[in-house]
Amino acid sequence: MKNGAAGLRPARWAARESQSRGRLHPEPAHPYRGEYQRDRDRIVHSSGFRRLVYKTQVFVNHEGDLYRTRLTHSLEVAQIGRTVARCLDLNGELVEAIALAHDLGHTPFGHAGEDALHECMKPWGGFEHNLQSLRVVDELEQRYMGFPGLNLTFETREGILKHCSKRNARRLGELGQRFLTRGQPGLEAQVANLADEIAYNNHDVDDGLRSGLLSEAALCSVPLFRRHYERVVREAGSVPRRVLIHETIRAMINEVVTDLVETSRRNIRVRRLHSSDDVRALTKPLIALSPATLAEHLALKRYLRRHLYRHEQVIDVTSRAQEMLKAVFQRFLADVRTMPREHANRARAWEAEKGEAGRARAVADYVAGMTDRYAFSAYKRLVDPRARLP
Ligand code: MG
Repeated sequence: MKNGAAGLRPARWAARESQSRGRLHPEPAHPYRGEYQRDRDRIVHSSGFRRLVYKTQVFVNHEGDLYRTRLTHSLEVAQIGRTVARCLDLNGELVEAIALAHDLGHTPFGHAGEDALHECMKPWGGFEHNLQSLRVVDELEQRYMGFPGLNLTFETREGILKHCSKRNARRLGELGQRFLTRGQPGLEAQVANLADEIAYNNHDVDDGLRSGLLSEAALCSVPLFRRHYERVVREAGSVPRRVLIHETIRAMINEVVTDLVETSRRNIRVRRLHSSDDVRALTKPLIALSPATLAEHLALKRYLRRHLYRHEQVIDVTSRAQEMLKAVFQRFLADVRTMPREHANRARAWEAEKGEAGRARAVADYVAGMTDRYAFSAYKRLVDPRARLP
């Protein structure tokens, strides 16, 4: 496989800072840092980013110190994304910024928490974690004198907003446009999106095996796992189980990422692209897996959904966590003074402006920003002092 030029000579279809659609609040250039580098640096310095360390990926944060959290997940996504960007001569700093920010809007307690908050917010337009990630970087982080949020470039914000309902897209102007016209985001956003899928498919196998909810024998019904696992067992001789597992996962990531690079390179070549805007006008993403690898990747994803995400032990923990989150939401909504003053003030201000929907949105922002353990302590304080961890 040919090596990329490490971002020194970005391809015509890569994001270029000189062609950036810029920031919502214009700022002078930095003397020695590029625009996407500044985006990444602002994300790493944000408080939302630090909170990812105590947010669940699949296993609730207190279940064990070795499981992935949203933070380590985001780092793995960035790492895979940078490799792919480098091979395709794309803008690695932009991919990294998107990857590090993509989960900033995640609620405590993973997808279960998101579902719970969505249910609470149904009367007022619901809750979408992707849109929430955008709200975090556009509005909720308060750190700079000249603007709310982190004032990131259009391209980073475009990559963060992976999905979006049509209703919300209409409110987002230029950024929401592609969800209405079925256009594509830039290639860097496409890379971050697939790096996310590859990262969690593989690390959830690792965490699932560590937890004992999955087993190697059962996972051998998934062709991608079986092929590599059987080879590793054959070649490794007597090594600890954790080496067998790591070598298998390492080989799975390598195979899927290699296919992603080769397939995407072919897709880009046949299109004869001149700029990143040529990419946005297409109806299908160019960063993609080959049909055979995609089928295997999806088979693993389905397996994890059935046997890990819907495992009764996981469901048991997450459904208790959901009840906790719903209960604290209702308490805050009923009496905003139970939130810290800054959030209570925001709830009152937004209520004056937009009625009950404004108050509810301020509560949702506060609850979504919580870590697992902070949400649990709020539940103990407000609802049940004798509650056990979910
Ligand atoms: Mg993710």
